[in-house]
Amino acid sequence: MLTKPIDVLAIAAHRDDVEQTCGGTLLVQQELGYSTGILDLTQGESGTRGSAQEREAEAEAAARILRVSHREALDLPDGSVQNTIENRLKVATVLRRLRPRVVILPYWQGRHPDHYTSATLGYEACFAAGLKRLDIEGEPHRPYKILYASLYADVRPTLVVDITPHIETRLAALLAYRSQYGDQREGSGLFVPEEEIRERTFATARHYGLLAGVRYAEPFVQKEVALASDLLLLPVASI
Ligand SMILES: [Zn+2]
Repeated sequence: MLTKPIDVLAIAAHRDDVEQTCGGTLLVQQELGYSTGILDLTQGESGTRGSAQEREAEAEAAARILRVSHREALDLPDGSVQNTIENRLKVATVLRRLRPRVVILPYWQGRHPDHYTSATLGYEACFAAGLKRLDIEGEPHRPYKILYASLYADVRPTLVVDITPHIETRLAALLAYRSQYGDQREGSGLFVPEEEIRERTFATARHYGLLAGVRYAEPFVQKEVALASDLLLLPVASI
């Protein structure tokens, strides 16, 4: 179990969420010299395809492709992630051990209750982890920045991360989940999941890239305002 602090921790409800929403961003951070990690809150026991054991092996394979320093999964029930005190303390304990400076959470609205519940649960765990009097293991720690990965949500991002050099690697990480995305009915000619996933992944990334004048990007929302002094260095052209 890793005890060295990591710089950027992505927290998500399900194994493969991070691969879909911010895997490219983790690759960018890793290339910048930061250590990255993933905390999956559930183990995937409720998935239609594949077992939790299969998904664990796939998650490890995806973690290697994303070059993260650390990945672990909690045992919250898949399909019923709840923002309880017990769950907040579980996440806060991990935060105290990994001590991330930046935490990426899912966006706080969406179709799947596990996703939007994880946003609130994650935020409140970040707050709790910094409380000195909290009776859990580890020294108090609060991340500096919380970003919400908004790719699943139909909202305008406040920032996007250019993942152009990493788009193929991110797709490879997603396709590591063979039980979810592998070609399951080969030869049918009608059902081509890998091609479908590829097209969807690239089209979505292209859409967010276009918003900022780059090729492929991943979207995020931050609740804080942006701070600037040199207006000539503000990124993204207006016209
Ligand atoms: Zn999910």
